[in-house]
Amino acid sequence: MLLEALRKEVLEANLELVERGLVLYTFGNASGVDREQGLVVIKPSGVDYKELRPEHMVVTDLQGNIVEGTLRPSSDLDTHTLLYREFPQIGAVVHTHSEFATSFAQAGLPIPAFGTTHADYFYGPVPVTLPLADGAIQGRYVHETGLAIVARFRGEQGQPAVDPLAVPACLVAGHAPFVWGKTPHDAAHNAVVLESVARMAYRTVSLRANAEEVSQALLDRHYFRKHGASATYGQA
Ligand SMILES: [Zn+2]
Repeated sequence: MLLEALRKEVLEANLELVERGLVLYTFGNASGVDREQGLVVIKPSGVDYKELRPEHMVVTDLQGNIVEGTLRPSSDLDTHTLLYREFPQIGAVVHTHSEFATSFAQAGLPIPAFGTTHADYFYGPVPVTLPLADGAIQGRYVHETGLAIVARFRGEQGQPAVDPLAVPACLVAGHAPFVWGKTPHDAAHNAVVLESVARMAYRTVSLRANAEEVSQALLDRHYFRKHGASATYGQA
């Protein structure tokens, strides 16, 4: 069996999403990529989480062709593979319909960086795509979803470009978040934190509609405490 360790990690990331309350029934998926072999491991479509085993994971190439596995891959596979092709430094992708992050996606609003919890993980607002055009929805919809994310990060829509390593998440308008990370565990962790900061952002604007985002100084202080060459958080 190919990629036994990565299969286990992807399974654990999928289960983590359920345990943390981000996923109802089977509405979520996590995948991981082996960059050396150019292979993706992803959850199968629609299998009850209680039944999921490492051998049920589906292995595909970066174009989404099945390399190993008898079950159908997650229906969101084409978004995952497109993100792996376009963002070559990411190692895992998670998709959920977690309620607060999805509420921002449905409102077509980014999640503002209101505080240091956000700044510890996301270096600026979590962006939202433009709504998909009818032609994209009727065409290669899942692939087009990935294209909308990539277009948003490249700043092709009159918005500033965003570095996918500095902001490892995107809201797809009218849909839900896609989140990524270095490993399946890291991507799942980012998805859990995203839901938490989305919940807090929702409450922040409920308390004060014109609440301001953190200052650049506070954003820098917290983000670079945990990321980059001069990170000081945790144990050396
Ligand atoms: Zn979805």
